[in-house]
Amino acid sequence: MINLFRRRASPLAAPNAPPLCPPLDFMKDLVHSLTEGVVAVDGRKHILLANPAVGEILNQPYSQAIGKPLWEVLRHREMSDLLDRVFQSGQTETKEIAFGSSNDRIFEVRMAPLKTGEKISQVVATFHDVTALRRLEQGRREFVANVSHELKTPLTALSAALETLLDGALDDPQHARDFLITAQEQTARLQRLIEDLLALSRLDRPQTFQPPASCPVQETCRRVVKALTPLAQKSAVTLKLDLASDLLSVAMTEDELTQVLVNLLDNAIKFNRPDGRVDVRARLDEFGVVIEIKDTGVGISPEDQARVFERFYRADKSRGSERGGTGLGLAIVKHIVENRGGTVAVTSGIGQGSVFLVRIPRP
Ligand code: ADP
Repeated sequence: MINLFRRRASPLAAPNAPPLCPPLDFMKDLVHSLTEGVVAVDGRKHILLANPAVGEILNQPYSQAIGKPLWEVLRHREMSDLLDRVFQSGQTETKEIAFGSSNDRIFEVRMAPLKTGEKISQVVATFHDVTALRRLEQGRREFVANVSHELKTPLTALSAALETLLDGALDDPQHARDFLITAQEQTARLQRLIEDLLALSRLDRPQTFQPPASCPVQETCRRVVKALTPLAQKSAVTLKLDLASDLLSVAMTEDELTQVLVNLLDNAIKFNRPDGRVDVRARLDEFGVVIEIKDTGVGISPEDQARVFERFYRADKSRGSERGGTGLGLAIVKHIVENRGGTVAVTSGIGQGSVFLVRIPRP
């Protein structure tokens, strides 16, 4: 093991030759420049060296930690126990430890003993931040659990409808029709879910090069509004379109802009009230094209506004899936818009309707 804190010269080196070991100042600079936290303690467990990265973890200037016992600076039971284990076993020990006021930062702490003969003279601890990695893993686990749950619900309903049909409802034409309609609705829901999952997985694929795209705004808005008018009429909601005349194009493919508008308009209709209205406005600003979709619906609380763009998040758990939603629509919108350098935001209040504002750069 290399001892970082003692300058060593090779016995074979000529008397005036520079030492083979890098100079101490260089080693100190090196340790200070590391993004990983490094702390070294002596045989009494007092801090000999700490770099700025560890100062951030300890939540105090790293230079003030020098000379103090590690337990006093950290006051962290798991760290003290790990250090004791290294002194007892004489082996390198590694453990994942949570830091921060709410234990929200996770570090892989590796403690390695440096020995002088048989005796442990120093222990060097390195702190590798694994918070992002663990969050990603947690996100993946939650995603899989959510997908399984979302698939299970329509499948259970579908299988129950088919079972009832086979158990005799098939011979009763009126009931048979009801169960077939249920089966058809649940199949459509499964299809929507799978289409949305595929769309997200396509958007998630890392793209080193995004091919340039251009899509006419006026035409696409008009086409989408026309296509969704029958759905709006069914819910007694009026769709209004107000487009500036100088819009031209945005830097998106036609499919992408269509999907963004369909998802936002579908929600604006779905979460509206009878005799409500949806206003679709588009204008130019210094950034590019701003598309505003304003509804007179149920609205979204401030806490939910911060989360509605997350996958599978529904502000009203019971009503979201009851209205046939997959909980993925806004996640897809955000992904598409941000992939093209744009932004999407919502302002709303319970019972006050919602305004979704999409900004997309021009080609
Ligand atoms: P869903 O398929 O459930 O519509 P989305 O991702 O499109 O999924 O939306 C997530 C949630 O955000 C919805 O379940 C709903 O609670 C809320 N939401 C989205 N748009 C609106 C809106 N225009 N008015 C009220 N709530 C909305």
